[in-house]
Amino acid sequence: MGRIAQEKRIMMCMIKVYCAKNHHQKQLCGECQELQDYALKRLEHCRYGERKSFCNQCPTHCYQKLRKEQIKRVMRFSGPRMIFYHPVIAFRHFFSK
Ligand SMILES: [Zn+2]
Repeated sequence: MGRIAQEKRIMMCMIKVYCAKNHHQKQLCGECQELQDYALKRLEHCRYGERKSFCNQCPTHCYQKLRKEQIKRVMRFSGPRMIFYHPVIAFRHFFSK
């Protein structure tokens, strides 16, 4: 699996966990759906392509200010929880700092 595909999967998982715990919806609420669409689109257009590092370590800030705040909140909330939901996914990257 390519890095982009992998990161997309992680992104979707994190937004799902965040929405379920914070917005108490069975499916993604409109706001989170929009954020997800945005995040996935940014990943597709990432100038680093398959060589990219994870977005939170990326030197290029391609997110709009508002979206960046939103995604930061999601990552801060879901990041540590992902270990329980998806222990298989390599999280070394997220916590290598
Ligand atoms: Zn939501």
